[in-house]
Amino acid sequence: MRVEIINTGSELLLGSTLNTHGAWLGQQLMPLGLRVQRLVTVPDGDPIRAAIKESVEGCDALIVTGGLGPTSDDVTREATAEALGVDLIEDEHAVRCIEQFFEKLGRPMTPSNLKQAQHPVGADVLPNPHGTAPGVYVPPRMGSASPCAIFLLPGPPHEMHAMFESEVYPRLKALVEIPEDHGITEVKFSGVGESSFQDALDEKLNAIDGGAMEVGYCARPGEMDLRLIGTSAQRLEGKQLAISTYPDFYVNEDGASLEATLVRELAASGKKLALAESCTGGRISSRITDVSGASAVFTHGYVTYANEAKVAMLDVNSELIESHGAVSEEVAKAMAEGALLKSGADISISVTGIAGPTGGTDDKPVGTVWIGIAEKSASGIEVSAEPKLYPQGREVFKQQVSQATLMKILRVIR
Ligand code: ATP
Ligand code: MG
Repeated sequence: MRVEIINTGSELLLGSTLNTHGAWLGQQLMPLGLRVQRLVTVPDGDPIRAAIKESVEGCDALIVTGGLGPTSDDVTREATAEALGVDLIEDEHAVRCIEQFFEKLGRPMTPSNLKQAQHPVGADVLPNPHGTAPGVYVPPRMGSASPCAIFLLPGPPHEMHAMFESEVYPRLKALVEIPEDHGITEVKFSGVGESSFQDALDEKLNAIDGGAMEVGYCARPGEMDLRLIGTSAQRLEGKQLAISTYPDFYVNEDGASLEATLVRELAASGKKLALAESCTGGRISSRITDVSGASAVFTHGYVTYANEAKVAMLDVNSELIESHGAVSEEVAKAMAEGALLKSGADISISVTGIAGPTGGTDDKPVGTVWIGIAEKSASGIEVSAEPKLYPQGREVFKQQVSQATLMKILRVIR
């Protein structure tokens, strides 16, 4: 099904209002397996007529937002009737709804509001419980010329969203005849690159059910979503294949952030966490405390940037720093152990690295970081550390180190 969207409103082109309708509608259409082939933004007035005429001839479903208001430049209704070659008539029920809306507000209804109760002959009126402008649904093949289904929706976001959900989605779903259990699953991974992921899995995922499931990828810094659109059985098979290939990099499939997932799983495990940060300057603690409920699982965030701070706050032996350097396996382990003992938490993580652009050497280049971990166990305290390299500039370095550290804690508690 070829879908087009027209967003109307001069304010969208003047830049005073950000056009959020196009993106929002695209997201809502995805679970139906529908893709938008064209998204057009036009100013109020006559350009709406030309845009509707053009789209009606070239697609199977058209969604128009805005231009349903009472003023003379709100021409969406007239333009649709013109494009279909039918007249506009007034809907009595819609008139009563508009009257009642004004009564509720305690304001008089103006004659120009009556324009909003009009719709092309043969079309359905879509109720708008949140505003005065009812929507319009033109079923496919209604007009003389057009096989296209048309939805006219109000401009204000809360009205448009509510009407889409209650009136448009069910009608589109019936038109595309998708199976009941068709839907979308997004599985989040962190720490595996998009290209290695695709190389390992793309062919296998696209072979499921003879290629009936749609497979997509969305990469963000340090993270990647695998998007599967199909029946529940197809999505389950795809998801299991991906998770079993990359179990250590799996985050979640409910859209929650990595830090929210970590706080949730720490709470479920009953474990408390402390952090000792050097090169990230508190970034990891900040991300954890962005999550509501963090107080139940997060006890201390030591920011020990200078060597003296590592010694004073975490009891790191200054000789260790002198002999191995602050960015070393030994110091990372000592920071983690110190944080565990000082805080009384069950797990502690440390990071010490060289964010750059200065400070690198031949054996410790810019981007080097050691991540240490200390954990209480039956036999005492277990301490280890691993090196990583993120030589992509200071900002990316801090983001990647925080991402890798949060992921490491998640793996440990799992
Ligand atoms: P209606 O058809 O509901 O009468 P309208 O075109 O008359 O719509 P406007 O007054 O132009 O409504 O817009 C209503 C509000 O909705 C304005 O604040 C406008 O900025 C906002 N709006 C309209 N279109 C969009 C859009 N595409 N994205 C975000 N906001 C929008
Ligand atoms: Mg408008």
